[in-house]
Amino acid sequence: MTDIGELLLSRIRDVADYPEPGVMFKDITPLLADPAAFTALTDALAEIAGRTGATKVVGLEARGFILGAPVAVRAGLGFIPVRKAGKLPGATLAQAYDLEYGSAEIEVHAEDLSADDRVLVVDDVLATGGTAEASVQLIRRAGAEVAGLAVLMELGFLGGRARLEPALAGAPLEAL
Ligand code: AMP
Repeated sequence: MTDIGELLLSRIRDVADYPEPGVMFKDITPLLADPAAFTALTDALAEIAGRTGATKVVGLEARGFILGAPVAVRAGLGFIPVRKAGKLPGATLAQAYDLEYGSAEIEVHAEDLSADDRVLVVDDVLATGGTAEASVQLIRRAGAEVAGLAVLMELGFLGGRARLEPALAGAPLEAL
């Protein structure tokens, strides 16, 4: 593993059986509290934004906001929040997706994305890929192009990468 990978991994806390039995929760709060690690993460994600030619950064609620906003500032790009349904005041586009039990819906302000945009999606953890897949679909429906998806960590055993491949259509998925 790279030096930065080692540093970031050392600042992620595994919490067993949270928020429910059988889940190993990846807690990034120790990383956020460490300025060297948080800066290294921000720089690495901003480098991906530059390399993929992104014109905007989309962060997925809620930890994608914490990571995506400084990445946007560092890369000199606008930040767009993709929120859970019912939280944005303006005209929105919505995308529903299936959860293990039931379904969820995410939204973006329709005016925030246009055909001129290439969007880098940022989140902390890629698990099943359902949230990221819905966000990619939302961005495309808004008329924008997807530059890529960048996450701090990918839980490979959940198969999110394979699930996302059709939606990403060749755009890169980078996990630090
Ligand atoms: P998914 O849609 O299954 O890929 O889940 C992704 C969302 O749930 C991300 O926004 C993560 O923040 C969160 N998430 C899922 N599994 C975990 C986990 N084991 N630890 C921390 N966050 C998780």
